[in-house]
Amino acid sequence: MGLKHRHSYESLAHSLKTTEKHYLPPHTAGALSVALVYPNLYSLGMSNLGYLTVHRLLLTTPGIAVERFFPALAAESPLRPPYYSFESGRPLGDFQILMFSFSYEGDFDKIPGIFAALAIPVMAKDRNRFHPILMAGGAAVASNAPALSLIFDILVPGEAETTLPAIMAILKEHGMEAEAIAELPGVWVPATGKKPSAPCSMHDINSQPAYSHIVSAQNAFGGAHLIELMRGCPRNCSFCLARSIYQPVRALRLEKLAEWIDQHPECRDLGLVAPSLFDHPQITEIFKLLDQRKIRIRNSSIKWEKLDSELLLILRRAGITGLTLAPETGSKKLQTAIRKPLNEERFLDCIRQIFSAGFEQLKLYFVACLPEEDKSDLDATIGLIKKTIAAAPSPSHLSAAFSLFVPKRHTDWQNRKPMAQQQMKQSIKYLKEELNRLSSQLRVNFASPQEALRQSYLSQTGPELAHEYAMEAEKCHENRLFSKNQFTALEF
Ligand code: SF4
Repeated sequence: MGLKHRHSYESLAHSLKTTEKHYLPPHTAGALSVALVYPNLYSLGMSNLGYLTVHRLLLTTPGIAVERFFPALAAESPLRPPYYSFESGRPLGDFQILMFSFSYEGDFDKIPGIFAALAIPVMAKDRNRFHPILMAGGAAVASNAPALSLIFDILVPGEAETTLPAIMAILKEHGMEAEAIAELPGVWVPATGKKPSAPCSMHDINSQPAYSHIVSAQNAFGGAHLIELMRGCPRNCSFCLARSIYQPVRALRLEKLAEWIDQHPECRDLGLVAPSLFDHPQITEIFKLLDQRKIRIRNSSIKWEKLDSELLLILRRAGITGLTLAPETGSKKLQTAIRKPLNEERFLDCIRQIFSAGFEQLKLYFVACLPEEDKSDLDATIGLIKKTIAAAPSPSHLSAAFSLFVPKRHTDWQNRKPMAQQQMKQSIKYLKEELNRLSSQLRVNFASPQEALRQSYLSQTGPELAHEYAMEAEKCHENRLFSKNQFTALEF
């Protein structure tokens, strides 16, 4: 059974490895071994520049052996323990450091299953020097580090580029010197009782851009290379974390992108990573550069206000047939509240322009169940969709995706209460019925109220989360239920 399990894991990992192109040599031997865990699907991990950047930093640190681990290599099929590293099939429990990358709070829920499978106590106080050092970083840690403070030995709410090299230098030379690590800016070692000090410097993305040094054909960008074009967002939407956790806003300059392209002449497809790509001050010049170099752009999410006929032409030439816009809501009252105004007339003109330019599909993103939302706000959104259908060649060219409001720490709306589940369900039912009445050809989908409420809880909870997870890990262990959480591919 054990051998069969290992064999099937290795053959699945091998088939994925054959889809990868590496731009740095692997480093699976060294004095200090790190398993870098992305607690979700392989395809999502390989699309996440935060995870890839940490991997690259470790790979280029002398004396460090680093291997990847994903608890699910394919959608809807979580791995069964025992767990092995992705690169060499080394047992995960053998590594000296387990480093988790949490890009959103929902992934916190993978902790009990993974810890139980490795027989690692969830509470840091129950572990000893024979257990691995547990570290965590990523956007969700920047958003809610207190939730993990009784679980992890080292938390990195700051940016990896400015914190990780110093942490690894101490760990390599002296081991888990908690007091010394706690002194580093942007690092939190909860067991010392000290609060983390703010990072003293921010990474200069022009000196070292974040890019995919491993390009997997299975990534969510269809196998494209990835490069970070902007860190942070100049806007300040009330519900969004992008502005608060990545300060100040930094944009990769055109000439630096050109340099990177020169160094990667085989790059024919490129995913441009930024919370709000079209707010890049040189976006038109960047698209022109990619057009000249015959590099296909893999992004489809655009800021409608920034579109003009020249950009539309470049996007069409780049092979894009569908675009995504995020009006968020049709209600003027809520547009003002979230600080994302929308001039309806200009928006509808833009829709007509998009279809005249030859695009075939348009996806609209909305947020439902916002604070103080009432029926008139839902009607305003339905009204906007109705007018958009009228501006499109036919409703079958449109789809609408609704996420549900989640109050996140560090946002202006962190203290707003999410709607009750019953109320969420009623709003969704109303929207579904009314949109279906507009046209049965319009494709509509909604986030799950249950998941939105769980994410709200995980965004707001504090250290008490560790007690819940410790009990859950106990149950996982007793029932051998390591794969309670399903892994589903997200649509990008
Ligand atoms: S929702 Fe978009 S535009 Fe608004 S702050 Fe977030 S990333 Fe920026």
